[in-house]
Order: sequence, then C-alpha cells, then structure tokens
Amino acid sequence: MSEAERAGVLAEMRQGGLVPKLAVDAVVFRQEDGVSNRNFVRFKDSKLGKLARSFKGVPFLRDHRQWDLTARGGTVVGSELVDLGGGAKGIRQTIELVADWAVEMALDGRLDRFSIGWNPTGPALCTACGKEMFGADGWCGHWPGDVVEMKNGDETTVEVLFTDAEGIETSGVAVPAVRGTEVEDMRSAAMRAALSTLGGARPPRPLAKDTSMLEQIALALGLAADAPEKDILAAVSRLRAEEAAHVTTKAELAAAQARAAAVEAERDEQRVSTMLDRAVEEGRIRPERDAKGARIAGKLELAIRDMAKKLGLAATEEWVKGLPVIAPIAPRLDSGGGDPTPRREPAGGTDAEPTALELKYARQLGVTPDVLRKTKTLMLGQAADDDKDE
Ligand SMILES: [Zn+2]
Repeated sequence: MSEAERAGVLAEMRQGGLVPKLAVDAVVFRQEDGVSNRNFVRFKDSKLGKLARSFKGVPFLRDHRQWDLTARGGTVVGSELVDLGGGAKGIRQTIELVADWAVEMALDGRLDRFSIGWNPTGPALCTACGKEMFGADGWCGHWPGDVVEMKNGDETTVEVLFTDAEGIETSGVAVPAVRGTEVEDMRSAAMRAALSTLGGARPPRPLAKDTSMLEQIALALGLAADAPEKDILAAVSRLRAEEAAHVTTKAELAAAQARAAAVEAERDEQRVSTMLDRAVEEGRIRPERDAKGARIAGKLELAIRDMAKKLGLAATEEWVKGLPVIAPIAPRLDSGGGDPTPRREPAGGTDAEPTALELKYARQLGVTPDVLRKTKTLMLGQAADDDKDE
C-alpha cells in the first residue's frame, strides 16, 4: 500500500466511509543469544518454531487486554519463526485488522509496536540457578532482570526460560519508555507469565500492573518505596521472627499475669480472713464451730467473703464495722467489780496482743491498750502479784 493510497483510505474512513480490512506484517517477538529482551523472558530455542506457529488464529488485541472483548482489533492469520540474522530469531506475523481503531492506528502509523501473550506449557526456569523460578519448592530467590554473580565470578542477568509455551494473543502496545524507567513493568510481565505455570496456586507475590503494590508493601514495612526485593523479603522474615517471639512473650506474660492474679487473690483472701477474725473477736460475728470446736465459716462469713469479692475490701470492712456487737467473747472490763475471783485475761497479761474489745475500749477512753490493761489490773488489785514486767 502506497503512501497516497493509505492517506486516501484514512481520509475516507474518517469521513464515515467503510472500514477496510487491513493486513499488517510485523516481527512481534525477537530473541537473541546473550541479549535479554525487555521482559527478561526467553523461550527454549528448540521450541521457538512451535511457539511461533501456535499463534496462527489467535486474536489481535490492544494492550494485552485479554479479558476485554472490545479490545480485539483483528486476528493473527499467519505466524512463523524467521531468522533475523546476527544470531537473532523472530516471530513474524501477518495480522488482519478489522476494528476501526486498529485500522486507523495502523494507517496513521501509531500501530508499530507489538507484544505477544502466551501460556507456558512447561516449567519456567531461572537462568541463574537452573531451578524452576516458582516451583513446588517456592521461589528460587532470583528475579528477572537482576544481575547476579555466578559461581565462576561472572555476572549474568537473570531471565525466565520457558521450556515450552503456546501463543494466545498478539497485542499492539505503546512505545515503551526509556528502558530503565520501565523495568518494573517489564518484570511484572515476566512475573505474570512465570506465575501462570503454578497452575492455579495462589501467586506468592503481587502480579502484573501491581508494581505500586510492591511499593506499598515496601513503605508499609518502613522501607524506601524502591527497596529491592531482597530487602522486602528480609523485612518480612524479620517480622515473622518478631511475631514468633511475640507469641512466646505473650504466653509468658499470660502465665505471669495468672501467677500475679493468684497471689493477689490469696492476699485478698488473707485480708478478708484477718478482717473476719477481728470481727469475731469484736463480737460482731458469732463464730461457728464444728463438733471438735474448730472454727468454720458460717453463712454470714461466706456472705462477707462474697461481698469482699464484689464490693472490694474497703467497703466490706466498713460494712462489717457497722455490725452490732452481738456476741462479746472477750472478758468484759466491768465484769470484775467486787468479784473476789475475777476472770483473768486468757492470753496472759500485758504480754499478749490487746483483744479487739480492749482496743475498742481503749479507743473510747482515749488511752493506749497498755494503759488500759494496767488500769484494769490496778483496779482488780493484782498489779503487784502478776505483773512481773513492771
Ligand atoms: Zn534462580
């Protein structure tokens, strides 16, 4: 088609004329020994011819929009492997364009870059280590486009080597930008292709078009947005380790808290017991005893313990203090009178702890329990005989 013919068809089309079918020939893929392509993808040499032929009849799309019916611009009607010279091979196709956008773009010269879409039908190997890049054992650790040092000291650029594949579409694409700035996108393409070999398994990493996701992950991990893969993976490993440590710490903390709670409960229990003992001494609670005379917790005592749990010790103590004295058991101060054989302090004079009742009277009289006792013994006329401490 001459330049004039092309211009004529284009003008007619733009005036609402019929859209002609248009066939274009293009080398849509090239592979060269020792030279990485933009995707860092390589096909096994011996399978290139088969791959090339498999494109016959596949759709021609815009931008690999495989899910989008309206993105179809035509059909690949011919596809073969050609020798491009200089150790390079190419897949040359004849593409029949029918959609007006495709025809128009081809006519005005905007459709001049192509890219192939394929399905891997064999393992995708890492050219650095020879293992499957994303095999059953997980990721081999290399990344398409990375430059790594080989065992012999040479540097090599990691590529994905597809051992077998079949063509599924050819796309018209925009002119790639400066190479360095496109690396991530290219990686995504290689990635998407490599991952499709996993056969339905969930991809271990973000797919195509999601370079921003990698950036977001890097930022979320507190790394620079353009942090390399290995840094991101290292950060994730660290997080996992910390998480594991955290689980242990949490278990230890829970055990410590349980111990502390037990100690606290025991202490509270002890305080309530002390309070109850005092209440019994003061005669506010009638002590209950079993057949052998040992004290047992009566209903009131149990209720008070329950109350202490619910209301707290201070409030309960206050309440117990408000109980009337119903069962005075300590010796009464005024019981002596003119009694010739007054009752003695059961606990033995001033050495013993003052009883609750003594405390109470002492408080009422504004004297110490000691003074009270001395006064009492004086009143009873026994000071000289009994008070050896005097
Ligand atoms: Zn590898």
